[in-house]
Amino acid sequence: MAIIVKKFGGSSVSTIPKLKNIAKQILIEKNSKNNILIVLSAMGDTTDKLVVMSNKASKSPNPKDYDMLLSTGEQISVSLLSMILNDLGIEATSLTGWQAGIRTDSANMAARISNIDTKRIKLEFSKSRIVVVAGFQGIDSQKNITTLGRGGSDTTAVALAAALKAKECQIFTDVDGVYTTDPRICSKARKLEVLTYEEMLEMSGLGSKVLQLRSVEFASKYNVPLRVLHAHQEGSGTLIKKEEKKMEGALISGIAFTKDEAEVMIKGVKDEPGVAAKILGPIGEANIEIDMIVQNVGSNGLADFTFTVSRNTLKKALQVIDKKKKIMMYESVSSKSNIVKVSLVGVGMRSHAGIASKMFKCLAKNKVNIRMISTSEIKISVVIDQKNLEIAVQALHNEFKLEKK
Ligand code: ADP
Ligand code: ASP
Ligand code: MG
Repeated sequence: MAIIVKKFGGSSVSTIPKLKNIAKQILIEKNSKNNILIVLSAMGDTTDKLVVMSNKASKSPNPKDYDMLLSTGEQISVSLLSMILNDLGIEATSLTGWQAGIRTDSANMAARISNIDTKRIKLEFSKSRIVVVAGFQGIDSQKNITTLGRGGSDTTAVALAAALKAKECQIFTDVDGVYTTDPRICSKARKLEVLTYEEMLEMSGLGSKVLQLRSVEFASKYNVPLRVLHAHQEGSGTLIKKEEKKMEGALISGIAFTKDEAEVMIKGVKDEPGVAAKILGPIGEANIEIDMIVQNVGSNGLADFTFTVSRNTLKKALQVIDKKKKIMMYESVSSKSNIVKVSLVGVGMRSHAGIASKMFKCLAKNKVNIRMISTSEIKISVVIDQKNLEIAVQALHNEFKLEKK
């Protein structure tokens, strides 16, 4: 029997009536003879509330306790849905991540799934039960509960789909598919019918949080067809799959953005070999991820070095730079946190020149100043001031004719 994995996100399971509506959908689908595995997020903003509670309880919560606390949200939703299904006469079992066999490394709050023992799930399937698994959590080799990073239920679903060789992994959420850009920022955003893993990897990696990046990495690695759908409306959603020859890549498939960027400028460093390593080495050692880097050659053998980091690591980065002043040997440091990154993504870019200049001209026409640029084969990213985010996204959406037809 084929297996279908269905994941429902927080806003889609925020109330009991919503859970009952999902159960009704399952009742209809139960006759299709597929084994159904459901992965749920915590209800509504439960996880946010748990984060607030932990911050009230402790200035720096112990990561193990923090994961223990955060993992409780998903246990509420799975147990409730399982009860509702059983009431409807559909045999169901709710399982925590560890009961479902999800083993992870020990990186609390951002653990990676290392392997999945599917024995228990298969046993439940053999009894014709629907299995409802708590997303976002697993267990490490020391039997500590871990969580997979915010948005991690997507990854639970795709990893289970890969391990069970499911026919499809369906991600149900509060939008009816993946759009050319976040429909909350651009009302003209258009739903995409199909997208390649590569394009979705770029979209997620560059900030489209409709799917957690790691879930797309899993899907791509194990070739799991992924479909994003609305949880409470009919529709075919967006299918994300391997690139096929006949899939004529759209020139631009979408515009992604991240709001959590920050810029660090180190002025007056020596313009000589090894300087980048001297600056970036200690930052990397402190586990701070650097995104874009620009070095401007100045005068008198000195240069300026600018790079971006995630906004929540800015403080730590500045502390490292201050501590390592003697090694880095700079004149001054400054930072700016009200910046954002906007990216154009599309596999069609590979075979088309001139996209970057069209993008830059469009931004100039709209008086949006570009602070930094980075490009790859299928994306162009710019860092701009936060106040220009909406103007930039909407102008680019128009310029590249991504709107609804
Ligand atoms: P869930 O709680 O179901 O996991 P998320 O909030 O994580 O849902 O993801 C859905 C949200 O992603 C949408 O409400 C939308 O605002 C946002 N989003 C960002 N970029 C896109 C995009 N390109 N297409 C669709 N939604 C997007
Ligand atoms: N509940 C977790 C979160 O809010 C995981 C998820 O929803 O995917 O991040
Ligand atoms: Mg999500």
